[in-house]
Amino acid sequence: MTLSEKDSQYLWHPYTQHKTSQTPIVISRGESALLWDENNKEYIDAIASWWVNPFGHSNKFIADAIYKQLTTLEHVLFGGFTHEPAVKIAEKLMEILPKNQQKIFFSDNGSTAVEVAIKVALQYFFNKNEKRTTIIAFENAFHGDTFAAMAASGISFYTQAFQGMFIDVVRIPVPIKGQEQESFDALKSVVESHNCAGFIFEPLVQGAAGMVMYEPEALGKLMRICKENNVLTIADEVMTGFGKTGKTFAMDYVAEQADMICLSKALTGGTIPMAITTFTQEVFDAFYDDDINKALFHGHTFTANPTGCAAALASIDLLQTSEMQENIQRINKSHLNFQKKIERHSKVITARTLGVIFAVEIKSDSEESYYGSMRTKLYNFFIENGVVLRPVGNIVYILPPYIMTDEQLQKVYSTIEEAIEMV
Ligand SMILES: *Cc1c(COP(=O)(O)O)cnc(C)c1O
Repeated sequence: MTLSEKDSQYLWHPYTQHKTSQTPIVISRGESALLWDENNKEYIDAIASWWVNPFGHSNKFIADAIYKQLTTLEHVLFGGFTHEPAVKIAEKLMEILPKNQQKIFFSDNGSTAVEVAIKVALQYFFNKNEKRTTIIAFENAFHGDTFAAMAASGISFYTQAFQGMFIDVVRIPVPIKGQEQESFDALKSVVESHNCAGFIFEPLVQGAAGMVMYEPEALGKLMRICKENNVLTIADEVMTGFGKTGKTFAMDYVAEQADMICLSKALTGGTIPMAITTFTQEVFDAFYDDDINKALFHGHTFTANPTGCAAALASIDLLQTSEMQENIQRINKSHLNFQKKIERHSKVITARTLGVIFAVEIKSDSEESYYGSMRTKLYNFFIENGVVLRPVGNIVYILPPYIMTDEQLQKVYSTIEEAIEMV
């Protein structure tokens, strides 16, 4: 049996209807921005393998750090024990995170980082004997697939089987250009009519919604409304973190500071699954008590896995090199040039760029659904042409590894241009 045949015998893939989906491509190796399949066909990974891989595949620097840690202390339980990689990553994050973030809590993936933040928001008020149980989230948000994260997510066909089983979430419109006031008004009315514990948002860019963007001033205003009403703010930087928006964190563009920040995806440079939720001292203090019941009873077996911490340290070192910072600026400039060109195309509705993130919306005759026919046509065209891009309905976005060469970028752009002509 081939690998593909064995795969279809045993494996269940994410977001996949196995009856109608195509056979997955067998990838044998990766290096820098490139992947090769079992027939040695080359692909440009233009979405950094779901946004986790900013320094390219099989990065030697991170691999060496991981090997060194694996042969020193690969894992130790974090209940009652600690270790240098955990302390070092905490110190490092304190240097680069917004200044009000003082405590860090480890978990395994973006969903659990969000799960922890939502549980902390709810228990924060429970510990203070205040009845606040509503979470506020944006329409079309994506915060992950575990239960609280799913409740906060607004992409409804993902979650329709579980309606009625969720924590209490109220949704407000995203303050995209021209729609800011609606968003502010909706938030004001929600905080007046509900006992709100927290407001969770993807700062400046809603990734899974199709790289929907909004301005830092609008987010700042929403956060101020929350602060005035004692509602905790949770910045889900799982996608935006570690340079994607052109600054280390999307929150670096915003005048207000969040009470909690969720990190994962690029945290370990696409090597080892790990996530971190960070908190202000004030949030932590609501759990700090002689009463054991006020503690946060949450943990995962692989909490603060030393190997993951070592990978994260090496990743942040790479991010901070001037070479990587220049790469981010180079890609941003390149995207802006492409945007100028493509947005004049008669089949293009709009295009947008922030940092290394670029998105273009293509005109379609029918209302294009997330997994609609245009999406499939586009996806297949990109794969045939050796470019990994996963359109969201009629939206094609690029989120390249920062080390992608200009030549590779140009190939991605020209493939998108050809695709627009084709659909
Ligand atoms: C991907 C993503 C998550 C979920 O992360 P997983 O590691 O897939 O669980 C949460 N929030 C945002 C903004 C994301 O992009």
